[in-house]
Amino acid sequence: MAKNAIVIGSGFAGLSAASFLAKAGWDVIVLEKHDSPGGRARQLKESGFTFDRGPSWYWMPDIFERYFHQFGKQTSDYYSLKRLDPSYRIYKNDGSMDIPADFTELKKLFESIEPGSSKQLEKFISEAAFKYKTAMDKFVFKPGQSIAEFLDPDIMKALFRLDLFNSVKTHVRKYFKNPRIRELLEFPVLFLGAMPDQIPSLYTLMNYADIVGGTWYPAGGIFSVVDAMYQLAIELGVKFLFSENVTSIKSSSSYIQKIITDKNEYEAEVVIGTADYHFIENNLLEENDRTYSEKYWDKRMMAPSCLLYYVGLNKKLKNISHHSLFFDTSFDQHALEIYKQPGWPSDPLFYVSASSVSDDSVAPEGCENLFFLVPVAAGLSGDSESMREKYFRMIIARMEKHTNQNIEGAIIYKKSFAQTDFIQEYNAYKGNAYGLANTLLQTAILKPSSRSKKLYNLFYAGQLTVPGPGVPPALISGEIAANEALKLFQ
Ligand SMILES: Cc1cc2nc3c(=O)[nH]c(=O)nc-3n(C[C@H](O)[C@H](O)[C@H](O)COP(=O)(O)OP(=O)(O)OC[C@H]3O[C@@H](n4cnc5c(N)ncnc54)[C@H](O)[C@@H]3O)c2cc1C
Repeated sequence: MAKNAIVIGSGFAGLSAASFLAKAGWDVIVLEKHDSPGGRARQLKESGFTFDRGPSWYWMPDIFERYFHQFGKQTSDYYSLKRLDPSYRIYKNDGSMDIPADFTELKKLFESIEPGSSKQLEKFISEAAFKYKTAMDKFVFKPGQSIAEFLDPDIMKALFRLDLFNSVKTHVRKYFKNPRIRELLEFPVLFLGAMPDQIPSLYTLMNYADIVGGTWYPAGGIFSVVDAMYQLAIELGVKFLFSENVTSIKSSSSYIQKIITDKNEYEAEVVIGTADYHFIENNLLEENDRTYSEKYWDKRMMAPSCLLYYVGLNKKLKNISHHSLFFDTSFDQHALEIYKQPGWPSDPLFYVSASSVSDDSVAPEGCENLFFLVPVAAGLSGDSESMREKYFRMIIARMEKHTNQNIEGAIIYKKSFAQTDFIQEYNAYKGNAYGLANTLLQTAILKPSSRSKKLYNLFYAGQLTVPGPGVPPALISGEIAANEALKLFQ
């Protein structure tokens, strides 16, 4: 008889874990509290606009290709991709800068800002390429259960070049003097949920992902990837039960016996929890079954939460880019207000995705689809309507000033999303948006474990365990958890 598994949650990690188990011949049921798959990447369709609710950057196309390849498929079987050029635009107080997709063009841009920096960029990227390749081959797919996983002669040889004990900030400063170039190269690590001085320089591999791997756009938005993974899971025989909220997990003799939802009870040989790790531990498991204490969680450094706005305009904007970073206020001050002295930011940096610049299908004809993201500290309270409105007015005014046009008067749809929504919709610990920060002390074996230390048949995947936050890592974490389960139960 086929083995059976329950996967809790149908975000990228849940879709991935379920598909790998189904490929191995298991009967798999996914229990999802929402009425559609995708988790943080679900779709919002309103007033003719189609928004991606969360992720908007498609980086590391190799990881997505690798994922589908393992099932005998390719991404193009499900969705089409185009590389964006410019990759993104950065607004500063004194103007904007487009980051070209082409490396030769980028070198020219660097040279125009800091003479000699194009040669430095070549060296910097060659180191970043080495780190990316080594991380993919030797680190990222490891379950993080023991230090022995990393006692590999190739890792030992590469230890010096991997530069684990320096920060991204120190590393970038070794190569470049100009603050604008430094900021540009430090930006990608913000995806990892901490500041460049807290992230090990190994993660300049993200610069390789940015500059060489490129910024891509799947037609229809990031939800096309969710849909592709969901279709694939169905082809593999995975059964999805939507609008089914898991409310508790009962165990006996260190094994899970029952998964209880608001509708039913289930039994399974293996359970893979991909909902928020802290929530599963502290709200679904009985006290004796928890690996980590509340104190442990409280000491973790969370990636930021965010204020989000989904906005539909009744006109097209002039001269805007698909991805725009508004770095026109103090980076250091905003970082302080997120990490060191958490509080509502005084004048935050923000990001805007205008997917309708690349895709006519996501807005009615002649209209623009805008998604605004303002990073804020995890665990803040007070995201009232008036607080949300205050920040919206602040950022819309800055966008209007920099792009020199009226935006507010053209709004025909607007919805906000903040910490309390992250908690309510995703059971997110401290309202986190992207899990745990990837600091050195929260990497690999130092992350919450991909296997429960108390319950033999419970595994974890998702952005709070290995390898970390982001869509590509979530796909990988599902694969890791499924492989761990297969190792022990197949
Ligand atoms: C605003 C935002 C922007 C982002 N931008 C990017 C980006 O541009 N690029 C990128 O690569 N990454 C980005 N990320 C990060 C990326 O989206 C996440 O790391 C990834 O989607 C996490 O997937 P997951 O499967 O771990 O978690 P989730 O997507 O949260 O999935 C967990 C699932 O579990 C379900 N669940 C929770 N509790 C229960 C329960 N009790 N019973 C049943 N089901 C339950 C939830 O409904 C959800 O569907 C962004 C994230 C956010 C929030």
